[in-house]
Amino acid sequence: NRFASYNGSNPYEAPATLGIIPHLELNLGTYFPVGGIYSLISSLKQLAEEIGVKFELSTPVKEIILEESTAKGVVAKEARRDFDVVISNMDVYNTYHKLLPTVKKPHRTLNQERSSSVIVFYWGIMRQFKELGVHNLFFTDDDGEEYKKLFTEHSIANEATLYVAVSSKVNNSDAPEGCENWYVMVNAPHITNQNWDELIASTKANALKVLSKVLKTDVAPLINYEQILEPRILESTGHSAFGSVFGNSSNNKFAAFLRHPNFSSKIKNLFFCGGTVHPGPSIPLSLLSAKIAVEMVD
Ligand SMILES: Cc1cc2nc3c(=O)[nH]c(=O)nc-3n(C[C@H](O)[C@H](O)[C@H](O)COP(=O)(O)OP(=O)(O)OC[C@H]3O[C@@H](n4cnc5c(N)ncnc54)[C@H](O)[C@@H]3O)c2cc1C
Repeated sequence: NRFASYNGSNPYEAPATLGIIPHLELNLGTYFPVGGIYSLISSLKQLAEEIGVKFELSTPVKEIILEESTAKGVVAKEARRDFDVVISNMDVYNTYHKLLPTVKKPHRTLNQERSSSVIVFYWGIMRQFKELGVHNLFFTDDDGEEYKKLFTEHSIANEATLYVAVSSKVNNSDAPEGCENWYVMVNAPHITNQNWDELIASTKANALKVLSKVLKTDVAPLINYEQILEPRILESTGHSAFGSVFGNSSNNKFAAFLRHPNFSSKIKNLFFCGGTVHPGPSIPLSLLSAKIAVEMVD
C-alpha cells in the first residue's frame, strides 16, 4: 500500500483516511486530459479570461503591502500595485518568509514535517517497448527500507520504486515515429543537506539498472534526449519551500487540522490558496482551496 506517497507522505505513518486513494484510483479510474496535463492550465486560463480575469505572467510578487494589519496590494516589477484583496498561491511557508518578512509567523503551522519531493527523468527513447503501457510501476522488494530512507535518512534507497508514464502509448504525436516519451519518477526526500548531484546520478544509475533488467535491453544507449526535474529546481523555479511537492506531509493524524487556513486571522483582506494550505495538496485539492478562498472573499 503505497498510496499515501501520492501526497508526499509515509504509508507507514500516515492516517488511514488516505486509504480512500486506492478506491479513487482502482474503482473510479484515472483520466487522461487530451493534450496532456498542461491542457488543464490552458483551459482554466481560457475560462478565467472569458469572465474578465487579467493575467500578468512572468511578474514575480516580491512583497505583500500591509497597512494597519490590512493587505493593501503587492510589489511586483519594483512597482506598488494596489488591490482590494490579496490571495497568495505561493507556498504558504514562502509567503510568510519572503513576501511578509516582518510579520510574526505561525510557526506551529509552518514548521510541521515537510512532505517528500520527486526526481523525474524525462527521456526520449529511440524505440518502442510492447511490454510497457501508459502507467507502469516497478516496485521495490523492500518498501520499509524505501520509506525509512526517504523520511528518516532523507535519502533514496538503492532499489527505489519507479513510476514510468508513457503518454505516447495513447497520444502518438507525443513522440517521433518509432520512439517513446518516458517520464520516470522516483520519490525523493525534501531538501535538507544532501549532495543532490551525487544522489541524482546514483538514482539514475539504479533506475537504468532496474529498467534494463526488466525490459531485457540496455536502456541507456536508447536515450537521445534528457531533462531532469529535481528538488532544487522545484525550490527555485516553483518556489516550493525545501523542494517539497506537497507542502507539509500528512504523516501525523493532526496534519489535516494543522494546515494553514485560507485566510489570515491577523491580516485583513489576505487569503491563501494552493496545495500547501487547506484542504491539502494535489491538483483537485488545490482547485478546491481556490474555490474556498474565493467564496471567503465574496
Ligand atoms: C512531478 C510532479 C508530479 C505530480 N503529479 C501529480 C498528479 O498526478 N496529480 C495531482 O493531483 N498532483 C500532482 N502533483 C502535485 C501538484 O502539481 C501540486 O499539488 C499542485 O500543482 C499545487 O498547486 P499550487 O497552485 O499550490 O502550486 P503550483 O502549481 O506550484 O503553482 C504556484 C504558481 O505560483 C507561482 N508563484 C510562486 N511564487 C510566486 C510569486 N512570488 N509571484 C508570482 N508567482 C509566484 C509559481 O511560479 C507557480 O506557477 C505533482 C507534482 C509534481 C512536481
